[in-house]
Amino acid sequence: MSESLFADASKRLEQALKYANISEDAIERLKYPKTSLTVSIPVRMDNGSLRIFKGYRVRYDDTRGPGKGGVRYHPSVSLDEVQSLAFWMTFKCAAVNLPFGGAKGGVTVNPKELSRLELERLSRGYIDAIADFIGPDIDIPAPDVYTNPMIMGWYMDQYSIIHRQLTPAVVTGKPLSLGGSLGRDTATAAGAFYVIETLMPKFDQPAQNTTVAIQGFGNAGAHLATLLYNAGYKIVAVSDSKGGVYAKKGLDIPSIRRFKDTQKGLQAIYCEDSVCNVVEHEVLSNEDLLGLDVDLLIPAALENQITETNVHNIKAKYIFEVANGPTTSAADKILAEKGIYVFPDILVNAGGVTVSYFEWVQNRSGLYWTLEEVNQRLKQKMVEETLKIWQIKQEFSINLRTAAYVHALNRLGEALSAKGTRDYYLGS
Ligand code: GLU
Repeated sequence: MSESLFADASKRLEQALKYANISEDAIERLKYPKTSLTVSIPVRMDNGSLRIFKGYRVRYDDTRGPGKGGVRYHPSVSLDEVQSLAFWMTFKCAAVNLPFGGAKGGVTVNPKELSRLELERLSRGYIDAIADFIGPDIDIPAPDVYTNPMIMGWYMDQYSIIHRQLTPAVVTGKPLSLGGSLGRDTATAAGAFYVIETLMPKFDQPAQNTTVAIQGFGNAGAHLATLLYNAGYKIVAVSDSKGGVYAKKGLDIPSIRRFKDTQKGLQAIYCEDSVCNVVEHEVLSNEDLLGLDVDLLIPAALENQITETNVHNIKAKYIFEVANGPTTSAADKILAEKGIYVFPDILVNAGGVTVSYFEWVQNRSGLYWTLEEVNQRLKQKMVEETLKIWQIKQEFSINLRTAAYVHALNRLGEALSAKGTRDYYLGS
């Protein structure tokens, strides 16, 4: 794609504008990230050499509250990507009415090549570099692709060392022992599942007759596979970054998860272990998975997966975006022409940041909730906002993505205007 990811991401604004209640000034503000920080992180490697890693933190908008969003460790992380992810966080937090703005961070690194000690030094180094830029009332990092509770624990500890004050609310997605919330690990998947449960009945698509393919078997994809499997959906294919497995009769998700946890790869599950004998399967690539003839296709990995180049191969009836930005705007148009329904990322994957919000609230109040309480509040929020977005979609006869942006823009527009526009400077 010649155009930048961010340029493509911001096209979503143009499509939603004419239906939203928002001033031109406010829209102009939302076209640009508020602050972007690029840092160099020196890390002493185990062999004694020094490596400098590139890191970013972008606060896209903080009108509705402190910046909020994860930190990604991946070789393809760039400022363009982090800005796009921070843009999506802004609209996601507004779409589900969290008192946060949008932010995102990243480090350009392949974490699988680092030892655990190198990973810890890199993580603490990242916080050293951005410590003045984050805080419980400024910007609150969290996990994203290839970061996890262990890393969030290091972040919190490093920030607390720098500030000489224990500060759990500076980071979410922490281990439970350091102030994490119950239910945060399964929150993205649970939130997506509540959206499915709320919207699928509108399409007369019962679980028992629904085949599913999931691209990405990380935290969100794997947990969602379990929830769908338990609800009676037939998961016929799953993949990770190395490739995938397909079985027409349906995959046994609990055993796949067990083997993935121990063998660290999906192909190994069927090729090297006894599961080979349990379900007949085929090995397939990520690209093949996207083109499967299934009812529900769930991209749950990285952005830019369904593009102008491969959109013509898509045969699924519904696309359910658990990843951030998996569909380009050009592909979106073609999907609509083909009659394929897209459930947008900023709604579908908002469960993760919603429970991050609950974690931040618990850290600040010092009162911790039960798992039931967390899940019940998550369900209530996801169902409520999903139905509001559905209503906007029906009212204007627009697609669900545009409706989600309209919903978010209405809230952002109201907050930007409430802060004062200073348009009295224009005189009369
Ligand atoms: N990385 C997740 C997302 O993209 C969670 C962010 C958070 O919890 O702040 O929504």
